[in-house]
Amino acid sequence: MTFQDILAACGLSSDMLAGGDLAVSTPVDGSIIARLRTHSSGDVETAIDAARTAFGTWRQVPAPRRGELVRLIGEELRADKEKLGALVSLECGKILQEGLGEVQEMIDICDFAVGLSRQLYGLTIASERPGHAMRETWHPMGVCGIITAFNFPVAPWCWNAALALVCGDPIIWKPSEKTPLTALATQKICERALKRFGDAPEGLIQTVIGERQIGEVLTTSKSVAVVSATGSVRMGKAVSVALAQRFGRCILELGGNNAMIVAPTADLEMAIRAIVFSAVGTAGQRCTSLRRLIVHDSIYDQLVARLKTTYDGLPIGNPLEDGVLVGPLIDSDAAAAMDRALEQAKADGGQVHGSGPALQDDYPNAAYARPAIVEMPSQTAIVCEETFAPILYVMKYDTLDGAIALHNAVPQGLSSCIFSTDVRETETFLSSVGSDCGIANVNIGPSGAEIGGAFGGEKDTGGGRESGSDAWKGYMRRQTNTINYSRDLPLAQGITFDI
Ligand code: NAD
Repeated sequence: MTFQDILAACGLSSDMLAGGDLAVSTPVDGSIIARLRTHSSGDVETAIDAARTAFGTWRQVPAPRRGELVRLIGEELRADKEKLGALVSLECGKILQEGLGEVQEMIDICDFAVGLSRQLYGLTIASERPGHAMRETWHPMGVCGIITAFNFPVAPWCWNAALALVCGDPIIWKPSEKTPLTALATQKICERALKRFGDAPEGLIQTVIGERQIGEVLTTSKSVAVVSATGSVRMGKAVSVALAQRFGRCILELGGNNAMIVAPTADLEMAIRAIVFSAVGTAGQRCTSLRRLIVHDSIYDQLVARLKTTYDGLPIGNPLEDGVLVGPLIDSDAAAAMDRALEQAKADGGQVHGSGPALQDDYPNAAYARPAIVEMPSQTAIVCEETFAPILYVMKYDTLDGAIALHNAVPQGLSSCIFSTDVRETETFLSSVGSDCGIANVNIGPSGAEIGGAFGGEKDTGGGRESGSDAWKGYMRRQTNTINYSRDLPLAQGITFDI
């Protein structure tokens, strides 16, 4: 399949892809595959107005009927899984299996949201007054803006979109300027579902294309009730300030600096597979990528030797080809950031194995890099940063308390794990004195979460939760109701107020 075949299969016609001001290149070979027309700030304001109007209708549609639209989106995604998966791979450079996996995540969250559309449950609460009832109900919030990052170009949109739609909120998507094509293809998939659904209001599902300024229109508009933003900590700081200034609600999914503790009783075969998948998968460009390995003294030499051998044999190459496990970095800036981090690590006393450019003769305009293992004498400042590249810093520990302290001593708090077969260690890691992350796993790596649980993290990761569990509450407003069905008007707290 040529690049053009992949684009055409996703319904992206050549006239859509030409003549615009936003050049979109594929990390596979660095070539430009589209020049898209971007939206202006005025266009985004028009989209917000349309979404507000749609809200007036959509909030009155019964939630299970709203779920029917999401069921149809899931069906259309199933039909297009191969095509969209290939486009994800082409546009952001992850291997085809991961591209397909990302579309599967979209399908999974649609299924979840369809079931949810018949739940969205509230509470009944005991009232202190006779003849009174209290309850808590949930109502749609309003327009939901969804800002996404390049490395998961479609799944996080769907985690938000599927829930927001069943919760009664129209959605406006601002994808990464590096990966707008997958967004346009997904919008087309939604349009097919909307057509089959029949009577959804205009403006219910929209996509706007452009750079950060387009996202800022969503974050500053009073008409956008919720903004869910996925991306860097730098972006999250700007978005949260903009939302706080207008008392808007934000759901932040920001960077991670995820670690694994490998204890003396760990099953090393399992640990090695988990380490390699989570450190080099998506070329280290997952928010949940493994970046720090904290290994007990007693097994350190053995584990690091095995890892070095595995790293030496990693198949790096065109992510669309069979057998490749490591694709390219998104662009040359990412490769430069990787080089800078490695130089700093060396200056801090780190020993670097692997690293360096790869496949330069085959793809001179792309940014393929050999994954690196860096043995660090301590957790220096560079280790505390998220460098979005396949760099695995390895450090030693001698006590579990020391390992947990090291683990938690970074600004980010997304995902974490321990490999151990000692229940005292694993339960400590999951306890209140253990990992401080939003996700904490045992005998499984930090990446590749299922949609059934809430996804997100603490500290600089932003505190947001998306996807499963009760994350849907982020897209609805809570209302407390008191109903007096008696013939008296008793006041709460025993107050008398006779007139
Ligand atoms: P980025 O922050 O550069 O961009 C993300 C999105 O935010 C883009 O659409 C961009 O246009 C937009 N944006 C940037 N500044 C903005 C502003 N001031 N107002 C409104 N919108 C703005 O991130 P990236 O390089 O695309 O993605 C990589 C980062 O995303 C990494 O830090 C990674 O860990 C993080 N990430 C987090 C999660 C998660 O769920 N926690 C998932 C994927 C990626």
